[in-house]
Amino acid sequence: MDTFEYNANPARVIFGNGTLQRLPDELARLKLSAPLLLSTPQQVDQANALKDVLAGKIAGLFTEATMHTPTSVTEKALAYAKEAGADCVVSIGGGSTIGLGKAISVRTGLPHVCIPTTYAGSEMTPILGETADGRKTTRTDPKILPGTVIYDVDLTMSLPAGLSATSGVNAIAHAVEALYAKNTNPIISLLALEGISALTSSLPAIVEDPLSVPARQKALYGAWLCGTCLGSVGMALHHKLCHALGGSFNLPHAETHTIVLPHALAYNAPAIPDVMERLGAAFGGGDAVKGVNVLLAKLKVKRGLREYGMKEEDIDRAAEIAVSNPYYNPRPVEKEKIRELIRRAWAGEEARADL
Ligand code: NAD
Repeated sequence: MDTFEYNANPARVIFGNGTLQRLPDELARLKLSAPLLLSTPQQVDQANALKDVLAGKIAGLFTEATMHTPTSVTEKALAYAKEAGADCVVSIGGGSTIGLGKAISVRTGLPHVCIPTTYAGSEMTPILGETADGRKTTRTDPKILPGTVIYDVDLTMSLPAGLSATSGVNAIAHAVEALYAKNTNPIISLLALEGISALTSSLPAIVEDPLSVPARQKALYGAWLCGTCLGSVGMALHHKLCHALGGSFNLPHAETHTIVLPHALAYNAPAIPDVMERLGAAFGGGDAVKGVNVLLAKLKVKRGLREYGMKEEDIDRAAEIAVSNPYYNPRPVEKEKIRELIRRAWAGEEARADL
């Protein structure tokens, strides 16, 4: 076994169905009494349900959380939190809402209780991405990690099948890259493989029946494990590509991860034979790249970036951006091969390990 280092992130997790009801006790345990609730405009109903659970005892409700955590929205929410006398923030939603909770918490020191409703995994990470003047910056700080995470499977039942599928593959991507991270370790690898197995078996069942409780339980459990991977070890080619593509061509987050994952894995395959073997088993047996292709077919997701508005003439610029800053990857990043990877992802081709 290789030498390794392992750091556990100190998050407290409450998991189950109906666990939203545990929020009053959790706030009491933390001696907090004036929460500012956060949501997107699309999830006002869930935020109002949260207010009911707290018997209306809240400092306020801010429902303008937005994709990519724009600092203008954060500043508005900060002013509101101060005026309302909030002593903590409670975010209910996906990565966009959790991002706002992190942005407020890291600026003010207010405790952050997180109630995730997608599979993106932000709740388990000390990472915050923010946009200002059209530029996205990302930072990592232990203070960004939410203190308590309440996973309530019931809240995920309303996540549309298509978003469940892409959000779930976004989670799988964290675990895939954790297996070949520069600072990978056996504990995180265990979580990664378990997370991938849980999502690979549950996501197709959710697409068939979005109201399947056992499938939703398994998917949220898998997403938690995959989020833990993202929060614990460094990412590589796949995440760098998605960041570059999403930021430069305004492509949707989870959908971009879904399209790129099989191609990024195919690119890295020759450099990670052991990981490919373990991944193959986690994806249900056989070749891992084929396993991801089969999973995506079952999930009936879009396979081409062009379907989200990326132009063919953007491929060269995308390749340029993708190789412009050096970063760790198990296989050296070669521009011409990366260009072909992006072209295949743009065109919506099946991934092939021949790059
Ligand atoms: P999202 O938070 O943007 O949610 C997408 C849409 O789905 C929103 O309209 C939301 O209100 C709605 N929604 C969410 N849950 C729902 C539910 N259960 N029922 C009905 N509607 C629901 O999407 P996301 O993919 O979770 O997050 C993406 C953002 O999170 C990106 O900005 C990404 O960069 C960030 N992110 C950050 C990290 C991190 O570690 N910092 C990790 C993953 C994602």
